Amino acid sequence: MNRIKTVLFGGTFDPVHTGHTAVAASAAGIIGADKVIFVPAKQSPLKTVRPAASDKDRLQMIALAIADNPKFETSDYELRKPGPSFTIETVRFFKTALGSNAEIYWLMGADNLDELAGWYKAAELIDECNLAVMYRAGFDKPDFSRFKKSLGEKRVAKLEKNVVATPLVDVSSTEIRKKIAAGEDVSKFVCPSVKNYISKHKLYIQQEP
Ligand code: ATP
Repeated sequence: MNRIKTVLFGGTFDPVHTGHTAVAASAAGIIGADKVIFVPAKQSPLKTVRPAASDKDRLQMIALAIADNPKFETSDYELRKPGPSFTIETVRFFKTALGSNAEIYWLMGADNLDELAGWYKAAELIDECNLAVMYRAGFDKPDFSRFKKSLGEKRVAKLEKNVVATPLVDVSSTEIRKKIAAGEDVSKFVCPSVKNYISKHKLYIQQEP
């Protein structure tokens, strides 16, 4: 029996943008996944700065952004946990919740690669799911050779096999927050319902420190 491929897409999503939805749709197609679950993080274990928008607002914006894609879902699993979440714990939670018939992928952009070796239980994470690294505009194509020593050849080969050649969509949440604070239009970078939500709730209007 074919296993059901489920993609978990973690991030701060502060806010979710058209880059997120475009690469997630492309990755789902390349992987042949049945669903993509957006999993907003409470706070990155590697980032000291807290998200600018509240957990509730970020989750709501994701719900709006994914409403038109039947393959897309969101989960508040990490938001409900106290303190920062580690990816390995989230993957294990979904493995148990979805059962043995599910084949789990964890999606991440190539911009996160430098941090990978410092991730909590990185080796176990690579062993226990398919860590799928996507292309990201402004960053080199994923190159895992530097991890051969720390993670071993087998894991590096698995990472290479799971690279997803997603389209380059040059947008980031940081850029969007800066534009909003500067009073600039962000229609090109977020879907209309997210743009309305941001305006209605007056999000991101303060300059970041
Ligand atoms: P910020 O600018 O606040 O760091 P971001 O735009 O990178 O935010 P995140 O919520 O941190 O967004 O991203 C979640 C995941 O999506 C990360 O793995 C990131 O690499 C990936 N990602 C975000 N934007 C893109 C994009 N335009 N193309 C490919 N991957 C992306």
